[in-house]
Amino acid sequence: MLSQKTFAEIDLKALAHNLGIVRKKTGSRNMIAVVKANAYGHGSVEIAKHLISLGVPLLGVAFTGEAIRLREAGINVPILVFFDKDNIDECFRYNLTPVIFDLHAAKKFSAAARKLKRTISIHIKVDTGMGRIGLTLDKAYSEILKITALPNLAPEGLMSHFSDADLQDKEFANHQLSAFVSLRKDLSRKKITFKYAHIANSAAVLSMPGAHMNMVRPGIMLYGYGISKADNLRPVLSLKSSILMIKKVPAGTPISYARTFVTKRKSIIATIPAGYADGYDRKLSNSGEVLVKGKRAPIAGRVCMDTIMVDVTDIPGVREGTEVVLIGEQGKENITAADIAAKTGTIPYEVLTSIGHRVKRVFY
Ligand SMILES: *Cc1c(COP(=O)(O)O)cnc(C)c1O
Repeated sequence: MLSQKTFAEIDLKALAHNLGIVRKKTGSRNMIAVVKANAYGHGSVEIAKHLISLGVPLLGVAFTGEAIRLREAGINVPILVFFDKDNIDECFRYNLTPVIFDLHAAKKFSAAARKLKRTISIHIKVDTGMGRIGLTLDKAYSEILKITALPNLAPEGLMSHFSDADLQDKEFANHQLSAFVSLRKDLSRKKITFKYAHIANSAAVLSMPGAHMNMVRPGIMLYGYGISKADNLRPVLSLKSSILMIKKVPAGTPISYARTFVTKRKSIIATIPAGYADGYDRKLSNSGEVLVKGKRAPIAGRVCMDTIMVDVTDIPGVREGTEVVLIGEQGKENITAADIAAKTGTIPYEVLTSIGHRVKRVFY
């Protein structure tokens, strides 16, 4: 087997713990576990299988290809596809549940279903303020009346999405929620009812109990990132490597491209075989840290495509092969995807989903 120094360790116990937090917050409500983007970089097939083994009844992905990958791995729970309307044949072939956000697409699904003499479950999406996909509020009511009248469609869900439920100020989120609730009421007066109504992403699961409706759609919190430390979530992914080469160099030695780092003293520089192609952001050049022997070692110079160099001069006993933690815990130290995101001006979602294809996911 090829030796691979850089790998992502996926802690399935932490995943189960985080799922437990969703359940604690939402009681017996139904759940769509969001496993888009390769389960936020964690490995969608294994994550999905584990979540299903823990009783998760439905999955959500962004695109049809992601759902097909799960089906081909033998996963047969319902899968919602959030952002697609073109791959209608595949939707039927793989028994997927499309999110419908316009009348035209609804008609195409209805016609295809009729031809196949089948009925297809759909969830209808309403834009209550995210400004992304969804029927806009001005015509949602009339369009939904038309969609639900189409033959061979089984509208089982009504859904929307928050734009800022993570903020402390819930004014806009509450405004979205009340628009959603009142639309649902108006529809039910016309006897248009849905088995499921859902609007809550992780932020709303954690901080808006009034928005849980009868189904929730957590994503990031399953992977261990929430709004605050008090959420008691546990990061699922650790990114680890080991030292490829150690060198002792004199003061005045330039390190990496463009010589942005020059040693000020006699130094020990370790090269680690992980770089921006593996999702280790180039903005961490001269500012990131990794953990070696339970201590923080600073990145020296530019992050390269395949490697980073770190200054281990102050850490005794470091050798070639010594373990390095880029994300995760070692000894008493800890670097989270949120710490990295704070340094690179992004969010944990992007740090996690950037972890590249070369990085093997190891599950335990
Ligand atoms: C990504 C996504 C979610 C999950 O959001 P989190 O913030 O990760 O919890 C839920 N619903 C939809 C439609 C999404 O696209």
